[in-house]
Amino acid sequence: KNQFALAEPQNYKGFLLERKVLEIFDDIRENKKYRDPRIVCYAQPILNVDENKYKTAEALVRLQINGVNVPPIKFIPIAEERGYIHSLSLAMIHKVAEAINNELKDSEFDAITINISAGELSDEQFATEVLEILDSYNISYDKIRLEITESAMFEDTDILTENIRKLKDSGIRFYLDDYGTGYSNLDRMTDSEFSTIKFDKSIFYKALANKETEEMLDAVISLVKKRGINTLVEGVETITQVEFAVNKGFENIQGYYYSRPVPIENLVDYFNKKQ
Ligand code: C2E
Ligand code: CA
Ligand code: CA
Ligand code: CA
Repeated sequence: KNQFALAEPQNYKGFLLERKVLEIFDDIRENKKYRDPRIVCYAQPILNVDENKYKTAEALVRLQINGVNVPPIKFIPIAEERGYIHSLSLAMIHKVAEAINNELKDSEFDAITINISAGELSDEQFATEVLEILDSYNISYDKIRLEITESAMFEDTDILTENIRKLKDSGIRFYLDDYGTGYSNLDRMTDSEFSTIKFDKSIFYKALANKETEEMLDAVISLVKKRGINTLVEGVETITQVEFAVNKGFENIQGYYYSRPVPIENLVDYFNKKQ
């Protein structure tokens, strides 16, 4: 019997990765105070405004300990610091792939996005490993998209460029996450790297309250669209915000107004089922 008592069966392909991720906490590794820790894949459906349908979703990791969720903000930074974030990303890709082949196999949707942390793209093996996992499930590469923040792009290394090229050539799209939170370099963000820009809720809320920010938002949206890049707004919670988002021309809307993140298998309730 394994010391972590993971819920997943031993033949689940991501099992060892998942176990590795759980080692981020000494207490888990030493099997001290936590019972039954596990990594669970949640996902939040995203509305496509034109079609008024949920066509994509964002995978969001949940760490459950003693049956309670630990928020990502409390363990992602630790995982990043201690070198476990890459295993976490790969484990999440396994989980999303499993769901696509099982619970979601009769659902109609475009893709599920997965968060990648800064630094991972500078790992020589990154693209190869991602493609290998998808191959092992026989999943079409365009069903998975990767979200990265601008800070992931700061190290402008050859390896990073090569990883992105390899993944993009294979049909994997990149989303720029959290736009409006960092130093936003318009040149960088509208070059051909990204298929979608995700506007952070902070800039969106600010535009709702402040005319100057609203004008700036209008200008950015118009520039982004001119470059053929899609727009998505996050953190939409109220009908007022929905109306504002639609009015601004956002093509995709994500937020609690439509749904909180749910266990990934529950996406069947949102994606259209095939007839
Ligand atoms: P993020 O990538 O910006 O993900 C969106 C966060 O906003 C999620 O928080 C989501 O639950 C939350 N959210 C969605 N709709 C609303 C809304 O209407 N209002 C508000 N206030 N919040 C909303 P969550 O799941 O706690 O994740 C927090 C962050 O942790 C993520 O921010 C991401 O940076 C990181 N994260 C989550 N899962 C993963 C993962 O699998 N890998 C990596 N590397 N990072 C992850
Ligand atoms: Ca994200
Ligand atoms: Ca975000
Ligand atoms: Ca983020």
